[in-house]
Amino acid sequence: MARHVKVQRGNTLRCKGWKQEAILRMLENNLENAEKPEELIIYGGTGKAARNWNCYDAIVDALKNLGHDETLIVQSGKPVAIFKTWTTAPRVLIANSNLVPHWSTWENFRELEQLGLTMYGQMTAGSWCYIGTQGIIQGTYETFAACARKHFKSTLQGKIVLTGGLGGMGGAQPLAVTMNQGVCLAVECDEKHIDRRINAGFCDKKIKNIDEALELVTQAKKEKTPLSVGLLGNCATIMPRLVKDGFRPDVVTDQTSAHDELHGYVPAKYYGDTLNEAAALRKKNPTDYIKQSMFSIKQHCKALLDFQKKGSVVFDYGNNLRGQALKAGLTNAFDYQGFVPAYIRPMFCVGRGPFRWLALTGNPEDIIKTDQAALKLFPKDGVLTNWIALAEKHLPWEGLPARVCWLGYGERAEFALLINKMVRENEIGPIAITRDHLDSGSVASPYRETEAMRDGSDAIADWPLLNALLNCAAGADSVQIHNGGGVGIGLSTHAGMVVVCDGTKETDERIKRVFTTDPGIGVARHADAGYKEAIELVQKTEIRIPMIKN
Ligand code: NAD
Repeated sequence: MARHVKVQRGNTLRCKGWKQEAILRMLENNLENAEKPEELIIYGGTGKAARNWNCYDAIVDALKNLGHDETLIVQSGKPVAIFKTWTTAPRVLIANSNLVPHWSTWENFRELEQLGLTMYGQMTAGSWCYIGTQGIIQGTYETFAACARKHFKSTLQGKIVLTGGLGGMGGAQPLAVTMNQGVCLAVECDEKHIDRRINAGFCDKKIKNIDEALELVTQAKKEKTPLSVGLLGNCATIMPRLVKDGFRPDVVTDQTSAHDELHGYVPAKYYGDTLNEAAALRKKNPTDYIKQSMFSIKQHCKALLDFQKKGSVVFDYGNNLRGQALKAGLTNAFDYQGFVPAYIRPMFCVGRGPFRWLALTGNPEDIIKTDQAALKLFPKDGVLTNWIALAEKHLPWEGLPARVCWLGYGERAEFALLINKMVRENEIGPIAITRDHLDSGSVASPYRETEAMRDGSDAIADWPLLNALLNCAAGADSVQIHNGGGVGIGLSTHAGMVVVCDGTKETDERIKRVFTTDPGIGVARHADAGYKEAIELVQKTEIRIPMIKN
């Protein structure tokens, strides 16, 4: 029978303290928000929260019995040991999908997965920090806002954004575009996924006919009214056809699960009712499925290059469509830029990145109160104040009420301390603070976050590992290291962390350390790579960089 985990709300603890209870509720929250909860798949193709249901039950049991000076060790979704450590050490340490570099390919990974030895953790799926689609809406909103700033006088009004994929992450695109006043046409092959985004209020319309969809978006562009349309179809056929028909979107990108050609991407001829056939082929003849998938990815990517040639702004949205197309023989696949060098890197240089927090008792009022606190603390940050107003207006709660906004070095510690004080003074219930692995110092991913680094350090994976070690040393409550999130096995190394605000003074001390080290290593990483903004910021902070004589 299918299991549907729901988060326990309220003040009753099942664990020995709020730190352990918070981590358990975050795990449950992942499953409450999962794309395929029965398979423990949270988002991003096959990004899972636990290796199997027996492991899930064992993790829950371990957390319920975990002492204040113990640390639970989770190896790719399986709880493998509990050790006595320190009260200030992390309660949970997680390593997901890591393979020795030479073996780090999907082929080897799948073999080992078949043997029951590993699990794909994506980014926040396996580290239990997913907060539903709203987590990515903010990042997507920031990205489209930066795109609008760079190319269209700071608004997408009267502009059409063409994209693909309405899954766990991609489902944020329609709303993020309309929040920036634009028109979004999103091609998705699974009707259920379009319905899900419409029911969540993220997408306005579902259309099955390409001409009807084009008419709607063209009209909305003309009238300069925000609109989002989910078009049922397959990108590998629709995108080339749109190029051929002379359709000219202003911006083109993609968030199909192209990073995984077997379990993520759906080859050209399948969509809607024929998805069953794709699923059968995947099972019966995976080699043929992969062959079809790779050919389709190549066609899909080529269409994006064609749009670029005709004048559309085209950027890769972190799903490795270009890398896969290159593998399939499209030699100029990388002729369009990734979204990080295009829009995000300047923010990473000053330690600005995703700061997210969850109301652990399930009370939405806690988030509204912290929203107000953030607005008061950062009144001059226009992107943040605009975002919080839009988020309160447009975003439904998904699972535990949560919020995310981008904050820089210094700001994160300041805001986290304020949240912990609000908990201490009983203004709000306990809060868990976490973030995406996509952040200033926590990821090495040459096709995404570290694409085109100034000093060529794109593939240096020491930084995210140091980030994780440092956050352990600084006293985070949970720390995770993963391989392959976003872009696929072997292509990225990244780390995550959680700090639970239980209102205690001891947590204040942890907050001061962790929210300095976590963005701080990002600033140091960008200073080391020679970015001026990072070098200047280091001089104004307590980060000390040892002098090395040339
Ligand atoms: P997902 O698997 O939940 O959703 C992918 C969607 O694409 C599904 O709805 C699927 O039906 C659809 N799809 C697959 N092939 C298609 C095709 N040929 N035509 C039309 N639709 C197709 O994945 P997700 O969580 O939404 O992530 C999407 C991609 O973005 C992944 O590759 C992921 O690794 C990457 N990602 C990007 C970021 C970022 O910050 N930009 C963050 C996390 C993940």
